[in-house]
Amino acid sequence: MLKLYNTLGRKKQTFKPLKKGSVKMYVCGPTIYNYVHIGNLRAYVFADILRRYLKFKKYKIKQVMNLTDVDDKTIRDSQKAGKTLREFTNKYKKAFLEDMDAMNIEKPEVMPRATEHIQEMIKIIQKLLDKGIAYKAEDGIYFSIKKFKDYGKLSNIDLKNLKAGASKRVSKDEYDKSNANDFVLWKFYTKEDGDVFWETKIGKGRPGWHIECSAMSTKYLGQPFDIHTGGIDLVFPHHENEIAQSQAANKKPFVKYWIHNEWVLVDNKKMSKSLGNFYKLKDITEKGFTPLDLRYLFLTKIYRQKLNFTWEALETAKTSLQRLKNIAHKLEDDNRINQGYIDEFEKAMDDDLNTPKALQVLWKLARDKKAHGKLQTIKKMDSVLGLKLLEEEKIKIPEKVQKLVKEREEAREEKNWKKSDDLRDKIEKLGYKVNDTDEGSVVEEI
Ligand SMILES: [Zn+2]
Repeated sequence: MLKLYNTLGRKKQTFKPLKKGSVKMYVCGPTIYNYVHIGNLRAYVFADILRRYLKFKKYKIKQVMNLTDVDDKTIRDSQKAGKTLREFTNKYKKAFLEDMDAMNIEKPEVMPRATEHIQEMIKIIQKLLDKGIAYKAEDGIYFSIKKFKDYGKLSNIDLKNLKAGASKRVSKDEYDKSNANDFVLWKFYTKEDGDVFWETKIGKGRPGWHIECSAMSTKYLGQPFDIHTGGIDLVFPHHENEIAQSQAANKKPFVKYWIHNEWVLVDNKKMSKSLGNFYKLKDITEKGFTPLDLRYLFLTKIYRQKLNFTWEALETAKTSLQRLKNIAHKLEDDNRINQGYIDEFEKAMDDDLNTPKALQVLWKLARDKKAHGKLQTIKKMDSVLGLKLLEEEKIKIPEKVQKLVKEREEAREEKNWKKSDDLRDKIEKLGYKVNDTDEGSVVEEI
């Protein structure tokens, strides 16, 4: 049985969907004002692994991933670029979809844009106003956290410890726990917003960030729904506020399981603008790595542990992935499944999605000379891991190079090292590199 670590309550729990046989899940999508970085990508790969594993377990899935296309950052940067908000965010939406595809992340069933759900947001805000939980201030409409008794439960903050003298309200979308206070639902128009505003019954303005996710999740998934995922940085204030808004407005529980993945560090340091280590997918591919090398690297760590990104670690991931593919491509199909290995794989994944363990099982099978059903079993495991182990390489190694590689393998078998080295040089002159592994030679473009 699948166990997942629920941030709400902070323990591993047996997963039991609200409705038998189907799972409704929501993942906070990107703010489309820039290219996503590898920290963002880890969150989406993690949500994808969860989604794929639930499918593996025969659940019917409905997953929603929103696109934040209006907030402080999108407005600020679209103005800088001299473009309309729509033009500006379209560019990054397209880039994001390409990144998802490259990382082999399955597309969620619904990918709603915030700007297309303003009416749904207003409905929730109106309900909160009617109940006296939200109130109007001079610059916007705010949620009064003292009116919601469960406030702070997800992120474990004690309202009694609110910093004395802290301002009573926060108008920014992002802030930290020490500034916890009434948060903004609707921001009244200021001239900095340019042409971004909606004329509505609650006033001219635009939504705060948190209300966007409450509106889009419950519209497509109902309330309550099963799983909400996201990076650990979203626990406070974003997810805390989503809970407050949705539960206070509808007097119903919001989400059963809150699952959060940890940070990506770069060279053991937090990614930050000042260090310039916000790597994007393009930075990775420009150095000759594939997006799936990065995916493999992500899977080598449990999602609830910090992942330290280094170029060496990525190099190791690349080699491992190539070796696995090399083995997989040589397998013959006996049309059988090796249930023993599938059981072992499932045991690892059932334990809060232990992907490093699952990879170990995959490797054990790959190296098992006597096992039956290797090809179909690896294929089944890969339906969860998403490494495209059996897909043919797009880059075809020219026949001439293949012939030289084969000759070189023979030379190595004869322990004719001189000939082997000469052939390696020849191959390199043609633009290819040979790596020797336990499972034979692996060729790659230089
Ligand atoms: Zn969200």
